[in-house]
Amino acid sequence: MQAGRLLEVGQFVVREEPDPVPGPGEVLVRVAAAGICGTDRHLLRGEFLGKPPVILGHEFSGIVEAVGEGVTSHKAGDRVACDPNIACGACPSCLKGRINLCENLSAVGVHRDGGFATFSAFPAHRALPLPDHLSLHDAALAEPLACCLHALDIGAPRPGDRVMVLGGGVIGLLCVQLARLAGAEVLLITRSAQRRRIAEDLGALTLATPEEAGRLWPRGADLVFECAGVAETVAQAPGLAARGGRVVIVGVLARGEKVAVEPFDLLVREVDLRMAFVNPFTQSRAIDLLASGAIKAAPLVTREVGREELPRILAEPPGPAEVKVLVTS
Ligand code: NAP
Repeated sequence: MQAGRLLEVGQFVVREEPDPVPGPGEVLVRVAAAGICGTDRHLLRGEFLGKPPVILGHEFSGIVEAVGEGVTSHKAGDRVACDPNIACGACPSCLKGRINLCENLSAVGVHRDGGFATFSAFPAHRALPLPDHLSLHDAALAEPLACCLHALDIGAPRPGDRVMVLGGGVIGLLCVQLARLAGAEVLLITRSAQRRRIAEDLGALTLATPEEAGRLWPRGADLVFECAGVAETVAQAPGLAARGGRVVIVGVLARGEKVAVEPFDLLVREVDLRMAFVNPFTQSRAIDLLASGAIKAAPLVTREVGREELPRILAEPPGPAEVKVLVTS
């Protein structure tokens, strides 16, 4: 099969490899669509806890080709989306139901081979069934949407709240849609005119810089989602929140990177700084939201590419018109 493998930090290749064989409890999935995520670029640069050599790709959908020993939950031909995060179920965090904080957490496409390949073998309980009317292309966005759903659960916007989103990538634009669905007034800050147009079509206000946001909402936002994953916007986020407001950091900064915050300001304005990490128990809801059309995937898919284009795409920052690139062949 064709596989896009991170050999070591900074070295990603697409090459022929043997087809994987599903082990006991696993499914073998023929990958239909796999999204390129900001985290794949972080992994290439060694900024996230990956485990090379590994086939990248943790946002993908496909059709079950075969099942391993003991699997009765799935059969060949089933349409599925991969929920990549595998919790141990036995550590103190898992026993408290905090599976995304599992002490032994591993992920398909991060620590074990993922979906930038013709086939992927992974645990059957991580292959979530898809309704017939949800396309496999749209289903490839279930994982990033599930992460954003967790961020929304953490931020808990109320109808009428003013919600600001920093960063207009797919994560920012999915948070925009979810906050609109929750009845909030939403302002996306993104430097890209093309991304502003997409967000406006999805019902958001948009601006190019946080400075302009201060003029539009002088008291600040009830809730700020940091979805850029850069130190500058993480540092700016608390100052953009209103008195008593909340900030949810969704973006990933490089391990060891530090950002200055002013605790006095957080204290006297009671700004609540929260973190949202991956997708605990949210991916089935994400699939339902995509299937119902309440969340739209199509406007966010700006390009479909073949696997051979992956090395070049991962090595470059996303272009200003790029939101989600799907690998479909
Ligand atoms: P992306 O497509 O690369 O988008 C990031 C956006 O950040 C860009 O569109 C850009 O927006 C903005 N940005 C980049 N540099 C900036 C700067 N210097 N100043 C201001 N804005 C800047 O990434 P994504 O897939 O949407 O993911 C966003 C972040 O979320 C990444 O860090 C990713 O790793 C992380 N993530 C976290 C989770 C989680 O569980 N917490 C899950 C998935 C992804 P403009 O150019 O439009 O301004």
